[in-house]
Amino acid sequence: MSNVLIVIEHAAGAPKKASLAAITFGQQAAQKTGGQVHLLVTGSGVGAVADKLKAYQVAKILVVDAPAFANHSTEALTAAIAAAQKSTGASIVAAASSSASKDVLPRVAARLGAAMASDVLAVIDASTFKRPMWAGNVVATVQLTTPTKVVTIRSTEFGAPAAGSGAAVEPLAVSVDLASFKAKFAGLKEVKSTRPELTSAARVVTGGRGVKGAEGFKLVEQLADALGAAVGASRAACDAGWVPNDLQVGQTGKIIAPDLYIGAGISGAIQHLAGMKGSKVIVAINKDPEAPIFQIADYGLVADLFKAIPELIDAIKKA
Ligand SMILES: Cc1cc2nc3c(=O)[nH]c(=O)nc-3n(C[C@H](O)[C@H](O)[C@H](O)COP(=O)(O)OP(=O)(O)OC[C@H]3O[C@@H](n4cnc5c(N)ncnc54)[C@H](O)[C@@H]3O)c2cc1C
Repeated sequence: MSNVLIVIEHAAGAPKKASLAAITFGQQAAQKTGGQVHLLVTGSGVGAVADKLKAYQVAKILVVDAPAFANHSTEALTAAIAAAQKSTGASIVAAASSSASKDVLPRVAARLGAAMASDVLAVIDASTFKRPMWAGNVVATVQLTTPTKVVTIRSTEFGAPAAGSGAAVEPLAVSVDLASFKAKFAGLKEVKSTRPELTSAARVVTGGRGVKGAEGFKLVEQLADALGAAVGASRAACDAGWVPNDLQVGQTGKIIAPDLYIGAGISGAIQHLAGMKGSKVIVAINKDPEAPIFQIADYGLVADLFKAIPELIDAIKKA
């Protein structure tokens, strides 16, 4: 019997949606290991986050609550996760794939002498997982043969966790000396947006090179706002400097799987598809009927986006 430890990310006093998907992974993995699901919350003043997590079917919520954990520190988080793994005896330590977990979990794997699989899509058994390779063109089945395993999961592949009650909340004391670390927290510049967050939005409108410039991209933003959607972009649009890089969807950008994806002026290169082909309904607007994106689109509009998008916005507003 081996437990599964899920590292939770949170914002504004609540767990992130991607971390809830990681709990679902934990529940599936614990069925295979025969152990319990334990969660780890770190930060300063994170009692509210732990309280919200009691709503899920997990055995224990470990809380590392101290000023030293107020800001992201790779070294401090590594120490906290390693301490939590020791305290829970977890054979699997997992978190949702994110910029933070891509930074911290490989370090945790090295600290624990654990094999690691990233971007896991499915649990096969207690040590075997499915994960994508080659921009999602290959799905590999990998077996991690070390006693402790470290995993990041692709949150779009796991739904909401089973509800529960009665999880025990336990403080975990981890002492770290921030001054002794080689990397220091310098500051956080947050991009404030009234639009939904790209990776968790139910609807996403993306623009590509076909919008022709920053001015043209405004049409994509207007359509997104009419739908209450998040805005995304192809790498071509980001590289051209029309929009910030954090809007990039794809193999080297964000992985999204909204209920509705609308791509305007995007050809559908394999690296872009790797980030959005899990979307439930895919709509493509492209003036080239041969554009590859039409091969995976549920609805395709062969049209000039500069004509089609204003018409769509009008129709949405009327509806
Ligand atoms: C290692 C690697 C990683 C990569 N990672 C990513 C990634 O994460 N995300 C990503 O997106 N790309 C990624 N790329 C780049 C990818 O290969 C493509 O170059 C890129 O996705 C193309 O962007 P695009 O579809 O906007 O541009 P294009 O391929 O140039 O397509 C523009 C489309 O707009 C259409 N169009 C033009 N004018 C109009 C109009 N007026 N109305 C309607 N349609 C119009 C055209 O018909 C065309 O189909 C990566 C590449 C590499 C090598």
